[in-house]
Amino acid sequence: MMFIDPHVHMTSRTTDDYEAMQEAGIVAIIEPAFWLGQPRTEAGSFKDYYSSLVGWERFRSSQFGIRHYCTIGLNSKEANNEALAEQVMELLPLYVCKEGVVGVGEIGYDDQTEAEDKYFRLQLDLAKEVDLPVQVHTPHRDKKAGTSRSMDVCLEHGLDPSMVIIDHNNEETVREVLDRGFWAAFTIYPNTKMGNERMVEVVKQYGSERISVNSSADWGISDPLAVPKTAALMKQRGISDEDIKKVCYDNALASFGQSGQMKEEDWLGDEGIDQSEKFSGNSILRGQMPKIQRNKSNIIK
Ligand SMILES: [Zn+2]
Repeated sequence: MMFIDPHVHMTSRTTDDYEAMQEAGIVAIIEPAFWLGQPRTEAGSFKDYYSSLVGWERFRSSQFGIRHYCTIGLNSKEANNEALAEQVMELLPLYVCKEGVVGVGEIGYDDQTEAEDKYFRLQLDLAKEVDLPVQVHTPHRDKKAGTSRSMDVCLEHGLDPSMVIIDHNNEETVREVLDRGFWAAFTIYPNTKMGNERMVEVVKQYGSERISVNSSADWGISDPLAVPKTAALMKQRGISDEDIKKVCYDNALASFGQSGQMKEEDWLGDEGIDQSEKFSGNSILRGQMPKIQRNKSNIIK
């Protein structure tokens, strides 16, 4: 079975992760722009980060046979530095229309401050203007109210719910998100509230329409194999292959595919892997023999 992880921060992951993800059947990933664990102090840091998402990281992923896409946005935490946020807002239009950008994200609320609200709204307008899907990060604190509010604001700004992916759901939020016509994404963190076991129960209860699973793996404790592992558990628990495919592949493609930037042919084209390739003169190799895979079932070492 093929999988898509529609929320994973590969910039903070290793080549071992890429190899394991490819082996587990992940064919495409989406890397949302987010914060780096400590706040940036210059607009130039955002610019270089966005450039790496559409440039180096996309290349690095291709070297392991995985198609890389991203969403571009100003994350909610750093929206609170208004002087900097103003400058970042001027950068965004330069990046949202680049190749491989499948949405504006991840944006939304963290502490639900006034500044977060202001930049969330401005970015919703931007998404609408360029006709891209929106990837909404919902707050970890006060989640239920924050999720409702995020959807209210999207509707207020005239977004069609079918263009909005509400992320980091749980059992408390899923019903409202689905009832209002939005996509409901779930992040599976190891040993936490929203683990794979609970995800199985969500799919049993709510079905597979408009629901998707992601790892949100980053520099924190997280698992870049969360999608294939959840799929395996669903299978064990008797969920049909069709439903598993919807939740772990189809729905991510259907929602972000609305960008016109992400198509199944991108990875079914079977271009193979050629690790002798370089990006601006730089390779992923450190003296190793390049792995060259002309088609996906035939690895030449
Ligand atoms: Zn994230």
